[in-house]
Amino acid sequence: MPLAAAFPPLPLPIPALLRRQNWRNPNTTRPFAAAPDRPLAEPMEVEIKLRLPDAAAHRSLAALLSPHHLKTLHQENLFFDSPQSQLSRNLSALRVRFSGPSPSAVLSLKSKPSISSGISRVEETEEPLEESFARSCLSDPGQLLSIGKEDDGGHVRSEIMRRVREEFRVNELVCLGGFRNVRGVYEWKGLKLELDETEYSFGTTYELECESGEPERDREVIEGLLRENGVSYSYSEVNKFAVFMSRKLP
Ligand code: MN
Ligand code: MN
Ligand code: MN
Repeated sequence: MPLAAAFPPLPLPIPALLRRQNWRNPNTTRPFAAAPDRPLAEPMEVEIKLRLPDAAAHRSLAALLSPHHLKTLHQENLFFDSPQSQLSRNLSALRVRFSGPSPSAVLSLKSKPSISSGISRVEETEEPLEESFARSCLSDPGQLLSIGKEDDGGHVRSEIMRRVREEFRVNELVCLGGFRNVRGVYEWKGLKLELDETEYSFGTTYELECESGEPERDREVIEGLLRENGVSYSYSEVNKFAVFMSRKLP
């Protein structure tokens, strides 16, 4: 599919989705963001993405994989952009992800996504964020924008926010809202499988993901598992951010 369809422009006005009182944290602490030196090309995340049609398919796949279960993560994904949608208009998404049970937060910038025959490719940079600081950014996204600025003392660095300010020329951020995801993580035949149940304000979707250096080969292996066990699936045609932005189920 074309890039523009993968990251559609932000429909205005922005609904204040998933705004919760306990996201407000008055005890703002400093972020720590470990930014490596900028590589020549942004790292590419390659993932197999297979869509499951319903809760029944998700249930039967979870049962099938249960001997290989490693952990279950409860993720909250929140997205940010300028009021003029400079990031999404440049095929980019800025995300803060909280991933329980351990308190942790990760800032990520994903750019130029494409997806074809169930294989997704996207430029991705990730940096850890201090969790309570990340929570406070949900109600005050300007704090995110100031990470690593020179007047911040210069001892906190963020390559992501440097690019957001300098490359994408963003000088104001708003929180677009987001969605929750329950992710079952499994190790199966040397693959790390991620079984997702994603809860949007407008409905729930189910998806199996697998990061892979050999996606065509591994896709065949995973499709074999699903076929042999009668689990229905199709190739995902949009990423979760695009589903969120479209405000409707694919
Ligand atoms: Mn990733
Ligand atoms: Mn993914
Ligand atoms: Mn992933």
